Amino acid sequence: MLNDKFVSGYNESVIPQYVLDILALTERSGYEAYVVGGAVRDIALGLPAHDFDVASSAFPDEMISVLSSAGIRYVDMASRHGTVTAVMPEGNVEITTFRVDGTYSDLRRPDEVSFTRSIEDDVRRRDFTINAMYLSQDGKIVDITGGMADLERGIIRAVGDPEVRFTEDALRILRGLRFAAKYEFEIEEQTFAAMEKLAPNLKAVSGERIAEELKGLICAPGASDVIRKSYRILGVILPELIVCHGFEQHSGYHDRDVFEHTLAVLDGIPFRDDLPEGAIPARDAELAAAAILHDLGKPECFTMDEYGIGHMKGHPEISRRIAVRVLKELKCSREFTDNVTELVMLHDTFIQPDRYCVHKFLSEHPHPLLKKLVVLQRADILAHSKRGQDRLGRLEALVKIAGELVSEGAVFSVKDLAVSGADLIAAGVPEGPEVGHVLSEVFDAYLRGKAVNTRESLLSYVSEHILTNR
Ligand code: ATP
Ligand code: MG
Repeated sequence: MLNDKFVSGYNESVIPQYVLDILALTERSGYEAYVVGGAVRDIALGLPAHDFDVASSAFPDEMISVLSSAGIRYVDMASRHGTVTAVMPEGNVEITTFRVDGTYSDLRRPDEVSFTRSIEDDVRRRDFTINAMYLSQDGKIVDITGGMADLERGIIRAVGDPEVRFTEDALRILRGLRFAAKYEFEIEEQTFAAMEKLAPNLKAVSGERIAEELKGLICAPGASDVIRKSYRILGVILPELIVCHGFEQHSGYHDRDVFEHTLAVLDGIPFRDDLPEGAIPARDAELAAAAILHDLGKPECFTMDEYGIGHMKGHPEISRRIAVRVLKELKCSREFTDNVTELVMLHDTFIQPDRYCVHKFLSEHPHPLLKKLVVLQRADILAHSKRGQDRLGRLEALVKIAGELVSEGAVFSVKDLAVSGADLIAAGVPEGPEVGHVLSEVFDAYLRGKAVNTRESLLSYVSEHILTNR
C-alpha cells in the first residue's frame, strides 16, 4: 500500500525541486532540515501531497540569514512561534524551528514555545505518529514513533500519552477522527479511549477550528463508520446526534433509526468530481452538512398515532432551527449557513416535475441549490425502505426540465424579462406600485407559458389580459 518509490529509496519526483532546494541550502549552512507532517504521510501513501512544511534545527534568526544570504525572499511574521516562510516563485515554504511546546492553559494552544536543536523534542509535540515523520533531502526518513508501521497497518495513534496530548489540545481529538475518516484507518484503543474521556474539552475550542475539522470528517470516505463509532464524542458539539442514536421511527417508510438513516444519507452523497487526480475522494461540504443535519429535529416532533405509526410532522423546520444554531456556534460563513439551512428546510419538499413548478422554484432559488437539493433528496430516498422509492423517477424528470430551461435561455427573474417598468408605463400602466404588480403578473404568465419572453409577446399579454381587466 505504501508508495514503492518512496520506501525503496529516494526519488526526487516526490518532493518538488524548490522544496528540495530549501532543504539543501539549510543543510549546506550546517543545520538539519526535513519535510515533515502531512506531506510525508501523503507521499508515503502514494497520494498527491500539498503544503510541504519544513522543520529545521536552525533558529528563526538563523533561518532568516540562511535565506537572505541566498537571496531568497521571506516573511517572518510568525517567527516568534518559530516559523519563517520562504517565498519561492513556485510557492511558499513554511520553515519551522524544532520546538518544544510549553504548558497549555486554554486546552488548545501552548502558552509559550521554546526552540530546540533536537528533532526528538520536536517529534514529541506532534499529534499522531503518522504525522510525526521527517523526510530529508537525500530520502532518509526519521521515524521515531513508528509512524510508518502505523501507516502501513492503518492506525491512528497519538504521539506519547493520549490523555496528556488531548488535554493539551482538544482539537487533536477531531483531527484524529478526521484522519481516520479520510484514510479509513482504525483509531488505536487507548487513543480512542482518551478521545472519549476528554471530548468535553472540545467545548473550549473555537467554533471555526471545530468546523474545519468537522467538514473534513463528514466529507471523507470513511465518515459514516467514524461517526458511528464516535457519536458520543461528536455529541459534545451536536447533542441531537445522541438523541437520534437508536431513535426508532415506527414508520413503514423507514427501516433504520434516525441516526442510522442519517449516516445512510451521508453515504449516499456522491464524491466531488473536481478533485486533483489521485486525491482521496471528498464530498461537497454543504451537502455533507445538510445530510448530517436534515433529520436531527425528528425526535423533538415525534408522535405516534393509534395504529402505532410514527409521525414527524414539521421536522424540517425543527432541523433547520437546529442547523442554524449549530452553524452559528461553529461560526460558519453566511453563504455556507444559508445554503445548508435551506437544503435542510427543503429536504422533504418535493417539487412537481412540471415546467411551471420547476421554473418557479428556479426563480426563487439559484440553480446550484436545486442541483444540490436533488442530490440530497436522492440520497434521502435511497436511505428509506423500498416504499417511497418511486419518487426517484420524479427527481430525474425534475433535473431534465431544469436543464432544458437553462439551455433554452429561460430567465428566472423579473429583472431579466424583455419588458421593463418603463415599457409598461408607456403601454398604459399607471405609474406607482401598480407597475410592480403588473410586472409580477407578467412574470407569472411567462412562467405558465402564457407568453414568451419577447417584448411583443409580453406587451400583448399586458394589453389583452391585464389592462383590459382593470
Ligand atoms: P492536512 O494538511 O492534510 O490536513 P497535516 O497533517 O499536514 O494534514 P496540518 O494542520 O497542515 O496537518 O499540520 C502539519 C503538521 O503539524 C501535522 O502533520 C502535525 O505534525 C503538526 N500538527 C498540526 N496540528 C497539530 C496539533 N493540533 N497538535 C499537534 N501537532 C499538530
Ligand atoms: Mg498540512
